[in-house]
Amino acid sequence: MIKSEPISLDLFRQKKQEKEDQRKYPAIMVWLNCPRCNTIEFTEIVAPDGRTHKCGALVREVEVEIDLRAELMITEKNLETINQLLEKNKPNRLIKLFAKSLDKALHALLISEKSYYERLLQLAKQAIPPYPDSIDDLKEQLGVREVNQLGLYISDFRYKPENRFEQ
Ligand SMILES: [Zn+2]
Repeated sequence: MIKSEPISLDLFRQKKQEKEDQRKYPAIMVWLNCPRCNTIEFTEIVAPDGRTHKCGALVREVEVEIDLRAELMITEKNLETINQLLEKNKPNRLIKLFAKSLDKALHALLISEKSYYERLLQLAKQAIPPYPDSIDDLKEQLGVREVNQLGLYISDFRYKPENRFEQ
């Protein structure tokens, strides 16, 4: 006997939720290289007509599509890790020279990570929830290229940007 299945609202909702759970939030971030000054930096501002560096040279640009959801998740994790390392290093800071320089390096990392985070928020213009799975489960999906010695996650966008300008 063939029984007709009623449309399951629960299943519909579940499917919708699964789709939302995996949804990417694409955006464009741009790597900039001044061939004269040899600087490499990034910006969230796309300039289709190009731009010149403060030295007057034409900047080389590489636009990269990123997933804001992934980048935000990775950066939040990195900020957490850096803050934990700073906290852990605190008691040593006053006694050891090495601990002092580590502290300095961590603060520099914190500033750079925060600046990236702010650019991401500028692009997001809305609250973007993290992926439901843990970052370690998602490593591949998030485009994590490397976990460095400090335990920081390096996304594909931020991995060796100098390679993007190799000729
Ligand atoms: Zn320049």
